[in-house]
Amino acid sequence: MIEKRNKDTFEQYLADASNYIGNADVLFVPETSVELKKCIIDCNSKNIPVTISGAGTGLTGGRVPESGAIISMEKFNKILSIDEQEKLITLQPALTLAEMENELNNHNLFYKVNPTEKNASIGGNIATNASGSRTFRYGPTRDYVMRLKIILANGDELELNRGEVFASGNELEIKSVNGKTYKIELPEIEMPAVKHAAGYYIKPGMDAIDLFIGSEGTLGVVTEITLHLAPLPENVLGGIAFFDDLDKLFGFVESVRDSSRKYRYDGEKGMPLNPHFIIGNIIDARTVEYFDNNSLKLLKKSYPQVPDRAVGAIWFEQEYDSKDENNIMEAWYNLISGFSQLADDTWTATNPKEHNLLSEFRHALPEKVFEIIVNNKKLKIGTDTAVPDKYAVSYYKYLMERLEHFGLQHYIWGHIGNSHFHANVIVKTDEEVKNGYKFYDECIDEAIYLGGTVSAEHGIGKLKKKYFYRMYSNEAIGKMKEIKKVFDSNNILNRGNLFD
Ligand SMILES: Cc1cc2nc3c(=O)[nH]c(=O)nc-3n(C[C@H](O)[C@H](O)[C@H](O)COP(=O)(O)OP(=O)(O)OC[C@H]3O[C@@H](n4cnc5c(N)ncnc54)[C@H](O)[C@@H]3O)c2cc1C
Repeated sequence: MIEKRNKDTFEQYLADASNYIGNADVLFVPETSVELKKCIIDCNSKNIPVTISGAGTGLTGGRVPESGAIISMEKFNKILSIDEQEKLITLQPALTLAEMENELNNHNLFYKVNPTEKNASIGGNIATNASGSRTFRYGPTRDYVMRLKIILANGDELELNRGEVFASGNELEIKSVNGKTYKIELPEIEMPAVKHAAGYYIKPGMDAIDLFIGSEGTLGVVTEITLHLAPLPENVLGGIAFFDDLDKLFGFVESVRDSSRKYRYDGEKGMPLNPHFIIGNIIDARTVEYFDNNSLKLLKKSYPQVPDRAVGAIWFEQEYDSKDENNIMEAWYNLISGFSQLADDTWTATNPKEHNLLSEFRHALPEKVFEIIVNNKKLKIGTDTAVPDKYAVSYYKYLMERLEHFGLQHYIWGHIGNSHFHANVIVKTDEEVKNGYKFYDECIDEAIYLGGTVSAEHGIGKLKKKYFYRMYSNEAIGKMKEIKKVFDSNNILNRGNLFD
C-alpha cells in the first residue's frame, strides 16, 4: 500500500472539480481489499476521519477531506467479468466510465445511463447515483446496480444483491458476510417525485442495496460492483432541432414527453407496456436535452450553421428498428414542424460519425463556458435543481426573471426531459458573486416550494448541505444520521458529506 504524508505529494486529492479545497494528514492507496480493510479498521480504532477518493470529477466537494486520511481507490480498477449471456459486468470501483464503455463496445453491450463526464469512476457514479443524457428514458445509475460489495467502517463486509433483502415496512435488517446483523428503522421521509440525488434513498419495503446507492460514501466503501447492461441498440436517430419561439419549444418538449411516456415499452423484451402501441409510428425519445439562446450564441462562434433566428434548441435521440426508419424520421419532422419554423434546419444523425458530431456540439458548450471562466478569471455558480414536469415551464420562467433582475451573465442547458436545468451563472466582481449566490438561493427555495429537489444528479457533498437542510426537516435529517450511525458508529467515513 502506498502511503504519503507529505502534503505536497498529494495536493491534487485535496480538491475536486468544484475547486473546493480541503485538508488531510495522509493519503493511503491500498491495492487489495485486505489492505483497504486493515487501513479502515486502523483509522476507525484511532477515530481518524477517512475520505474516499474516486476520480475527483465530483461537483460538490464529496471527495474533498476536511481532515484525517484520504483513501484513494485508484488501484481498484479492473474489470472482473463480463457475462454476455446475462448482460452483466462485474468491476472494481475505480474503473472509469470511458474505460468500461470502450470495453463494452467490444462485446456489443451497452450501459444505458450515459453521464457526461467519462473520466468519472463507476464507484463515484454509484456514490452519487449519477444520471446522464439517457436518464429521461432509462433512469439513473441506481436502476442498473445489481450487486455491491461494501466494506464498513468497522471492517465488516456487506454483499448486497438486488432483489434479495427488502425492508419489512420501515424495518430493514442487513446481514454482513460475517453474520453480523445491522438493524435500521427507516424514517417516514417523502422523497420528491422528480429525478433526485440528495440524501439517502428511503422508502417502506425498499431493497437494501438502494440505501447505499447515492449515499455519497457515508455508509461504506464500495469495492465491487455488478451492473446490468443491454445489447447495443440496432439504430439510433439523433437530432438537434432549433426553435424560433421559446414557448413553442416548451410545447414541443411537452409533446415529446407525453408521447414517449404514453407509449413507453420494454425495449429488451420488445413488449409494449401499452397494448395500443403501434411500432414505427411514434415518438419514443431516450434523450431530450436543452440549449438556451445564450448557449447557442456562444456555440455559433464555432458552429456558424446554427440558424440566426434560433432562440433555443433540443438535442433528441430515439432508438428504432431498421424497418421503422422512415416512419420515425417522418414523425419527428412533423412534430418539429408543428412547433418551429426552423424544422428544415434540424441536424440529424443516424450513424456513429454523425452522432459524434452532435455530442461534440453538446460537449463544446461546457468547454466554452470553462474557457470564459479561465480566460477572465471568473467563477461559475451552477444549479442542479429539478421540479415536477407540470412546473418545468413556470420554473424556467422564474429562473429567467431572477437572472434578469440580478443582471447576471448566464448559460442554461440540461436535461429538460426530466425538468432538470443547469443554470450556469458566470460572476467576477463582489457584487456579481453576491447576486449569483442570491439567485442560487432563490432557485433552490422555488424548487423546494414546487416539490422538486436541490440536487437531481450531483449530490450534496459538503457544498450543498445548507440546501439539503432546507429540503428536509431537522427531524428527517436526524433520522438519516441515525442510519449512518448504525454502519459507522464513530462517524469516520466521508465526514462532512450530507451532514454537519
Ligand atoms: C464536466 C463535468 C460533467 C459532469 N456531468 C455529469 C453528468 O452528466 N451526470 C452526473 O451525474 N454527474 C456529472 N458530473 C459530476 C461527476 O462526474 C459525478 O458526480 C461523478 O459521479 C463523480 O465520480 P468521481 O469518480 O469523479 O467521484 P469523486 O469526485 O472522486 O467522488 C464523488 C463522491 O463519491 C464518493 N466515492 C467515490 N468512490 C467511492 C467508493 N468506491 N465507495 C464509496 N464512495 C465513493 C466520494 O467519497 C465522493 O463522496 C460532471 C462533472 C463534470 C466535471
